[in-house]
Amino acid sequence: MRIVLLGPPGAGKGTQAKKIADRYGIVHISTGDLFRDNIKNKTPLGQKAKAYMDAGNLVPDELVIALVEDRISKDDCQDGYLLDGFPRTVAQASALSEYNEKVGKPLDCALSIEVPEDKLVSRIVGRRVCPNCGASFHIKFNPPKQDGICDRCGEKLVQRKDDTEATVKNRLDVYNKETAPLIDFYRCKGVLKAVDGDQDVDIVTADIFKALD
Ligand code: ADP
Ligand code: AMP
Repeated sequence: MRIVLLGPPGAGKGTQAKKIADRYGIVHISTGDLFRDNIKNKTPLGQKAKAYMDAGNLVPDELVIALVEDRISKDDCQDGYLLDGFPRTVAQASALSEYNEKVGKPLDCALSIEVPEDKLVSRIVGRRVCPNCGASFHIKFNPPKQDGICDRCGEKLVQRKDDTEATVKNRLDVYNKETAPLIDFYRCKGVLKAVDGDQDVDIVTADIFKALD
């Protein structure tokens, strides 16, 4: 199964992506995680991406498209993948469609997680992430079992540098301008499914499985 996850920053894409990937046995690819790994490892790509990410702006299309095409051409993606955080612009979505047509492997579903904008800021500012496995928690809404420690791998949780109130506002503006049009893009292609993301994490997961099964 080949899926893209849509939704504004803080909608719960990363939280749900791990569960979807486990259930359907497909690879979870988060472009944000790939860039953060590149920054941690001080690669040339990480150095190019860092300033855009810190300011809450999008990394230029050509860098992201090349990164994703390279990743989904790998052996472990041949039976399916779940893209989280990509595409984020119409140019990225068009490039993905063209690539998928070229290799004869179209998308099965664009799954949109819908959350009202007024809930997103508190979700993002309270987010704590695992720098080791990428798991995402929330200090109030989705706390780890042990304060500050990742449930999945035991690593100390951190706050992302771009998860501040100042940056969030710009990230939401960028989402509304650049990424929200993708909902119509995929609706026109007949592959859009939407779930209500403004419910408990487990209920959202159940709704997603219902939509995908
Ligand atoms: P995204 O990947 O879409 O940016 P995340 O999955 O990282 O979003 O979730 C953003 C924040 O909201 C995290 O702190 C996460 O724990 C929390 N969260 C995720 N799903 C829910 C939910 N259904 N209800 C409340 N908080 C949630
Ligand atoms: P995320 O982890 O999905 O919230 O992404 C964090 C940041 O990485 C974004 O704010 C962008 O700066 C950058 N990024 C991730 N995915 C993309 C993408 N598809 N296009 C452009 N920038 C991206």
